[in-house]
Amino acid sequence: MAATTSSNLANRLDSIVGAGRVRAPTDAEARAADTIVEPASVEEICEIVRMCEADRIALAPIGAARSLAGIRRSPVALGISMARLARIVAYEPDDMTIVAESGITVGRLNAAMADSRQRLPVDPCSPAMTTLGSLIGAAHSGPLRLSEGTSRDLLIGVRFVGHGGNLVHGGGRVVKNVAGYDLMKLMGGAFGTLGIVTEATFKVRPIPSDYCIAVIPHARAADAFAAACILNDSLPLSNLDILSPGLVTGFNSVGQFLLLAGFSGSPLEIGDQADRIRDLVGARGEILSADGALRSYELLRDIDFHSAPLAAQIAVPPASLARVLEACGNDTEFRAHAGSGVAQIILAGEHSAEAAAKAIARWREVARLARGSLRLIAAAPAIRDSLEFFDTPNAGALALMRRLKAAFDPAGIFNPGCFVGGI
Ligand SMILES: Cc1cc2nc3c(=O)[nH]c(=O)nc-3n(C[C@H](O)[C@H](O)[C@H](O)COP(=O)(O)OP(=O)(O)OC[C@H]3O[C@@H](n4cnc5c(N)ncnc54)[C@H](O)[C@@H]3O)c2cc1C
Repeated sequence: MAATTSSNLANRLDSIVGAGRVRAPTDAEARAADTIVEPASVEEICEIVRMCEADRIALAPIGAARSLAGIRRSPVALGISMARLARIVAYEPDDMTIVAESGITVGRLNAAMADSRQRLPVDPCSPAMTTLGSLIGAAHSGPLRLSEGTSRDLLIGVRFVGHGGNLVHGGGRVVKNVAGYDLMKLMGGAFGTLGIVTEATFKVRPIPSDYCIAVIPHARAADAFAAACILNDSLPLSNLDILSPGLVTGFNSVGQFLLLAGFSGSPLEIGDQADRIRDLVGARGEILSADGALRSYELLRDIDFHSAPLAAQIAVPPASLARVLEACGNDTEFRAHAGSGVAQIILAGEHSAEAAAKAIARWREVARLARGSLRLIAAAPAIRDSLEFFDTPNAGALALMRRLKAAFDPAGIFNPGCFVGGI
């Protein structure tokens, strides 16, 4: 990449976006980029990308910069904050679709749909802090993944600024849309390495009239997973999660594994499901409704993995998850999405760099043996440089990813080094 002094870069950016919109990074952004620009239109982003391509200046699209802080080794020259592109473009409650700029947060998007009793049912940690761009970039999901899928499943249209500063469209604004390549799947989880998402269209879903959650403690992880399996086979649950004892802070359940089974529907359906849960698991635990249920769900959703000293996400076939987490070791704490085979894990307590490296090697091997995968979510700065954040894919897949990167980003300026195999 070209050596561009930051004052030179700032002057050139000023001429594109006007004075006052180029600034130093905040603490959270500092790991991502040396200088931040806040474009207020797609045209400005196109211009900035053209300038960066001409001079080979590396850039990173930034939402709230929380996951970039966990993943980048060294900052790129320019961070493009999406904060000023945060409008709702079109909302069609009857069609159940919403189009919005990528800098809006999931929390604000949902607030705008609340009167129509609809929502985007993707539930990353702290929706008020997660932008649509980062939701797509990091392919987030949360406990509702079991019933609602991930951001990828709900994304039906995308616009992004790519190579040449061109605005690219994929998909559309209606649910039935089959034209063109499925660029939505490509942008989902690309960590901003293929272009800058400026606008997204999502399917939305109704907010259920009632939500309850069964909170059931177990002395052993194996018993919690066995009960989860019975519930999952018998009931249409909203979420089905297991927390290890170190992550049950805020719940009244010291030293136990907690099974949290959420269910929703009309009052009649809720009553029926509650009865069936009691039949299936006996008198253990309690079933919370209304504010109590919401509070417990939010505690579960908002466990903050990206600021842990060492955190990873493991994905394996659901039937293997209990065995895999046990094999990760008893120094591992977890939040397991028991129905979908995905779990976030952290290394408990204080640990040395050596212990962290050993834990990751062990977790990776365990995931690999179960035909699954592991990606790091966060690692402390002292150890980050020596770690691979993603598994190494097989040679065929990696070659395909490199070809895609070269086709979409021939100048190599979009978030370089942020993805699988150093892409
Ligand atoms: C490897 C990894 C996996 C993670 N998995 C999960 C998970 O499954 N569930 C969860 O709740 N949290 C997960 N996290 C934590 C999560 O990333 C943060 O909670 C979340 O990203 C915060 O949002 P943000 O707006 O700060 O994102 P940022 O850190 O600003 O952005 C996230 C990613 O999206 C890209 N991006 C941002 N805006 C755009 C845009 N407009 N166009 C293109 N790309 C863009 C960024 O360049 C970056 O690569 C993960 C983090 C990492 C590093």
